[in-house]
Amino acid sequence: IVKEHLPGVEATIFFMDIRAFGKDFDKFVNRAKDDYHTRFIRARISAVEIDPATENLIIQYNSEAGSLIEENFDLVVLSVGLLSTAGIRKMAARFDIEINACGFARTSSFTPMTASRPGIFIAGTFSGPKDIPETVMQASGAASAAASLLTELPIRELREELPQEFDLRGEQIRTGVFVCRCGINIAATVDVPGVVEYASALQGVVHSQEFIFACAQDSQKLIGEKIKELKLNRVIVSACTPRTHELLFQKTLSSSGLNPYLFTSHNLISISESR
Ligand code: SF4
Repeated sequence: IVKEHLPGVEATIFFMDIRAFGKDFDKFVNRAKDDYHTRFIRARISAVEIDPATENLIIQYNSEAGSLIEENFDLVVLSVGLLSTAGIRKMAARFDIEINACGFARTSSFTPMTASRPGIFIAGTFSGPKDIPETVMQASGAASAAASLLTELPIRELREELPQEFDLRGEQIRTGVFVCRCGINIAATVDVPGVVEYASALQGVVHSQEFIFACAQDSQKLIGEKIKELKLNRVIVSACTPRTHELLFQKTLSSSGLNPYLFTSHNLISISESR
């Protein structure tokens, strides 16, 4: 990831044994080696010292041939395993659910979201180390499993308090365009600043800007602020498919006083993937 963002960085990974945990994580290691030329060195590091002249860090290790080597680095990151926390144990005790020998919630391979106590569902690292996609998948699964228990209950509609919608009668069109880099997923193939500049020159566009992650909470807050500050009455987000986040952006409009149907989603990720 560092190499994707800063191609000039020279990265070295010292390891004793690599077991890439999870689906496709071996591919991740191979990509780091083959596509990004990250050095992987099997060695036990014996010392990390500060170079007094440069304040860089000197790593000392034995090569596989047995010679003592010293190398200079700008930054050293210690990667440690994920451990259970006192918080997990406390929460498990409060909900009266079992934990396993490693201190994570006990589940089974066939029911990975089901806790030992009926009616309690688990997602993410509460039941062990997980990556983000698996955590998101489990969160959806846990929410669906919880919802399935509620079908027998009488329906009570919960309504969120929303501000009064702006009256736009007679208003000129004032469009805000927000273009998402999606980290490097879009930015690696689409000239995002170029799209922002192009959009800013279009008729009716009064604001155009880019985001690193348009769906992040701070980006939503900023879109809401821009709607109010610049009196935007149309919002276009150029990002992923509407299936992913259309509802999220519509909700941002509603909470800022705009009718949610004044939002348009522009699917930039399909364009970037087709290149
Ligand atoms: S809005 Fe879509 S494209 Fe942008 S960061 Fe989120 S998932 Fe990626």
